[in-house]
Amino acid sequence: MVAEKAADSTKEKNNNNDVLSSTQTVIKTALEKLGYPDEVYELLKEPLRMMEVRIPVRMDDGSTKIFTGYRAQHNDSVGPTKGGIRFHPDVTDREVKALSIWMSLKAGIVDLPYGGGKGGIICDPREMSFRELEALSRGYVRAVSQIVGPTKDIPAPDVFTNSQIMAWMMDEYSRMDEFNSPGFITGKPIVLGGSHGRESATAKGVTICINEAAKKRNIDVKGAKVIVQGFGNAGSFLSKFLHDQGATVVGISDAYGALYDPEGLDIEYLLDRRDSFGTVTKLFNNTITNKELLESECDILVPAAVENQITKDNAHNIKASIVVEAANGPTTMEATKILTERGILLVPDVLASAGGVTVSYFEWVQNNQGFYWTEEEVEERLHENMVKAFNTIYETSQTRKVDMRLAAYMVGVRKMAEASRFRGWV
Ligand code: GLU
Repeated sequence: MVAEKAADSTKEKNNNNDVLSSTQTVIKTALEKLGYPDEVYELLKEPLRMMEVRIPVRMDDGSTKIFTGYRAQHNDSVGPTKGGIRFHPDVTDREVKALSIWMSLKAGIVDLPYGGGKGGIICDPREMSFRELEALSRGYVRAVSQIVGPTKDIPAPDVFTNSQIMAWMMDEYSRMDEFNSPGFITGKPIVLGGSHGRESATAKGVTICINEAAKKRNIDVKGAKVIVQGFGNAGSFLSKFLHDQGATVVGISDAYGALYDPEGLDIEYLLDRRDSFGTVTKLFNNTITNKELLESECDILVPAAVENQITKDNAHNIKASIVVEAANGPTTMEATKILTERGILLVPDVLASAGGVTVSYFEWVQNNQGFYWTEEEVEERLHENMVKAFNTIYETSQTRKVDMRLAAYMVGVRKMAEASRFRGWV
């Protein structure tokens, strides 16, 4: 039993390793297609900086537990680095590095004046008290304080982190800085300088991509059957937006199982019953597995959970004609190839999930100016940015005859490569 668990965790680590190497492979191809020399790839294949920290936390039972955390800064040639912090038991250094590269690509795709950054702490927040989480959040900020800041590297929420955690982190940084620094972190509560529309921004961006992709495939989103894998921040808001638009959400899932009904699920009820970690299926007996859900009948499939969900083992069985990646890295490279060969339109993560960092940028701009926008202003600008990014990448994929992932990498990496060259780095 113990050996089995150990084998599982090694497998998981190898999977995470794959995330970095497969990202590097696509970056290399993208740079070659754009005509950049190899030294540009050598610079961009790894983050410029990677910090590993240990964070001691006094637990509720009086013991002290030492947590390991990371902060990766991929490339700051264009501007400060930017990206979320994830709290998850499966976090690894290589995963955080890959996530920071994806953030650089997202910033390039939606044309933000940032490079990519990412943080992670190996922990399971589902098993920690509110007080322990606060201590861990504050400890992390103290540990990485030298390399982060409103003009250096700006964190944000990611898997299992939220506006409360951003508030504690902002408070800790402001205490050290000795003045209020709302621009240190995004995804804050509105009352602390958060932006309208930030919480639902990733899902809004995904919804915009789904609508644009559906136009290309002559599918009416109203009445289309949609499966959303994952019911966290992105998955839950997305289910609501699609349901409100008249799509039939036939499947949803969380870390423990999935629900599928070809007639459509009661999304309002599920949203009402989910907990803050997006868990809801435990309330039902008639669940199926996440694996079964991904292979179920639908028109549009949205993986909105974690990495490596669509692989060479199930890509042949995907029924959707459009796959839109709301999660980071849900489809392996081999699966990307299989889906593309099968004529399925795959909208890649670095494009589809870029709505979150776009509104994070709006939040940072508002913090820097001390002048705040309405929800309508935020939505209008987000819509404009996402539609433009989608169509640029779609056209690039058509003219260069490459899949949308490679097209997105080509668009995303170009500005950073150019900026690094102008600066004389390569
Ligand atoms: N964690 C989100 C992402 O992966 C948002 C990052 C941000 O807002 O800076 O895109």
